[in-house]
Amino acid sequence: MARVALDRVEKRYGKVLAVDALSLECAHNEFLAILGPSGCGKSSTMRMIAGLEPITAGTIHIDGRRVNELSPAARNVAMAFENYGLYPHMTVFDNIAYPLRVRGASTDETVRGVLDAVRMLRIEAFLEHRPRALSGGVRQRVSLARALVRQPAVFLLDEPISHLEAELRNEMRIELKRLHGANDSTTIYVTHDQLEALTMADRVAVMNRGSLQQVGTPEDVYRRPANRFVATFVGEPPMNIIPATVEDGRIAVGGFTMDPPSPAALSAIEAAARGAGGILDVGVRPDDFRLDDADGPGIAGRVRVREVLGDAVLLTVDCEGDRLRVRHGHGPDAREGAHVRLRPRADRIHFFDAATGVALGRSAEPEPS
Ligand code: ADP
Ligand code: MG
Repeated sequence: MARVALDRVEKRYGKVLAVDALSLECAHNEFLAILGPSGCGKSSTMRMIAGLEPITAGTIHIDGRRVNELSPAARNVAMAFENYGLYPHMTVFDNIAYPLRVRGASTDETVRGVLDAVRMLRIEAFLEHRPRALSGGVRQRVSLARALVRQPAVFLLDEPISHLEAELRNEMRIELKRLHGANDSTTIYVTHDQLEALTMADRVAVMNRGSLQQVGTPEDVYRRPANRFVATFVGEPPMNIIPATVEDGRIAVGGFTMDPPSPAALSAIEAAARGAGGILDVGVRPDDFRLDDADGPGIAGRVRVREVLGDAVLLTVDCEGDRLRVRHGHGPDAREGAHVRLRPRADRIHFFDAATGVALGRSAEPEPS
């Protein structure tokens, strides 16, 4: 099994800079997710690791060996990509068996490998079909099965379950995670779905517009986002971002004032606010508000929409030009139209430079979970 290292890797398509100086490592046996919105450069990165796309600049090493100029076959990686890449004239069985046959596996070994994979992916019923006759979700699983039977040094999975319906996707998430644990495999997994990344990966690399924003454990990127982009991309519903001002060492949001996280953070916060026309961005997750009556302390607002989520209620609250989302599972509720006060939990407030988006600190180190 293998370690994958990218060093200042760049990809240009003509004038388009798709991947910008990306440095990233996936350790031996690690499950690394690359997470980001559509168009941020995830697939370009994967295709460069796989050898399907020339690297504009930088280097890629797999297991200490520079692979920039190696053919895909020489890299010992297996891929399952969102556009399937199946052989149209072959049956599902033959598609999945193909890498085993190329390797010279015995008939027994080939049949066993294919059957194990199709059982796990619940596509036993389609073995004699050709790809054309299959739905997108089944084709995607065939593509995944073909990657799994290879048992390569590195798995490169690019949105491998994106076309499946929700229930099956949940099952496959668990199966893939289990398989990774059972097989000692190094896996790089691309997704735009933050839930997939957080639940499956050992570490998550968040990308935006071709650049790495942060890499860390799911806990890191959720609890300690490095910037406003990560803060709002990871977590659902997204973190609320509220413009605030700094005066006399206190931070004020819509008539509510709070202490800075620390004296050191205060000077960074004041400097950032000066650079951004006096404004600072305060971030609060929907779960991290306390809801109070109209005459309590907190940010004043009026409930615009109340949605029942089953075990919780999601409120959309209009607060002097900001629209904040508040989720509460227990405690007081509020009807639509009610005047309320929202008080951010003192230990869960994030501060961002309003101009650059860089995180300036949090109100307290969150307790480990
Ligand atoms: P993602 O997988 O995160 O959605 P991609 O790596 O596919 O992102 O694309 C990153 C950027 O590069 C996008 O702006 C996309 O339009 C562009 N791009 C991708 N492939 C090509 C290509 N073959 N030719 C030109 N531009 C491309
Ligand atoms: Mg893609």
